[in-house]
Amino acid sequence: MEFESNHEHIRNAFMSILTKGVKNNTYKFALARFLLDYSRKLGSPPLESKKLKVKYTKVAKEFFRYYWMQECKSHLRQGPINQPPEIITIIRDEFKEAFYPQSVDKIIKKELVRVENCIFRITKKCFDDVIPRFEIDAEAYFGRQRSKPPYSRILYNYWAREQKSKNFVIDTNGGIELNPHAISMLQHNYEPLYRSVILEWIRFLERRNFGVPHLVQKIEAREMGPRDQARFKKYLEPFTNSCFYCSGKLLQGRCTHVDHVIPYDYVGDTELWNLVLACQKCNCEKSGHLPPEQHIMRLQERNEEYRGQIKKLEKSLTELEYGGYDVCWHYNNAASFGYAKLDSIPRQG
Ligand SMILES: [Zn+2]
Repeated sequence: MEFESNHEHIRNAFMSILTKGVKNNTYKFALARFLLDYSRKLGSPPLESKKLKVKYTKVAKEFFRYYWMQECKSHLRQGPINQPPEIITIIRDEFKEAFYPQSVDKIIKKELVRVENCIFRITKKCFDDVIPRFEIDAEAYFGRQRSKPPYSRILYNYWAREQKSKNFVIDTNGGIELNPHAISMLQHNYEPLYRSVILEWIRFLERRNFGVPHLVQKIEAREMGPRDQARFKKYLEPFTNSCFYCSGKLLQGRCTHVDHVIPYDYVGDTELWNLVLACQKCNCEKSGHLPPEQHIMRLQERNEEYRGQIKKLEKSLTELEYGGYDVCWHYNNAASFGYAKLDSIPRQG
């Protein structure tokens, strides 16, 4: 197989795939991101030819990572409400309604059978269009500039059968063979291209995910940094010594937890307007859930009562209100995106 070797041509073709062509789901962004991430992992040339051959199941595993974080952790809407992309249906089907606040690495370790089922089904159901389409769209960039077929491949060669209807069916045991020149181009341009992929991905999702904080962080689906909420304890301790949820007396020291009332997975940062002191039991029970509504009312009251006395709280509330939002708005928005809500804390019975 001949491969295109001109870096500039390959880069322009890659950009044209991102910005032009049909966008009925986000798979092409996921594939573009996979190619970038995989290239970066390969390190500098000379490249071993066996590493240029990537099985579809390996691509599917990375797709699982990107979409698992977006679906199970961040609850982003990926398409029309009754018509999520197939990959989301597969993940929901395998993981049911279960609440999985864990990181993707933990899920891969803990739920290996379900994860493997997902990977098998993603390989079988999600690649027939995007794998050939990506290379065909790259070809479209060249228009009539190129000489007669067979053309040299631009990003990769792929294993697929063409059907009479001009649709493809990929060979699920096969994979792609990467163009070593494309790998080298992707490595050299990783940062700007990675940002372009994320930008186009956001452009596709933003109108369906109105008001969701930190959309970039959620689409990047990288493990978020330390939440480090314990450092906020000192602002709250002078004003209360009981658990926000059960009113139990808190003992000084390590047993006192600082809890994000609206889950961190939704708000994406640690701000005093959303933090309360809680006992270990309540904090662990609540975990990444939304609390019952009465606690949100109490949080609003708490914030109003102390904003004049705690400078840091006043500052965080001003920032929140400056955007036109308040505690209730985010609580309702998070609920509408499917963040699970507890009926009571501590749980009855
Ligand atoms: Zn408690």
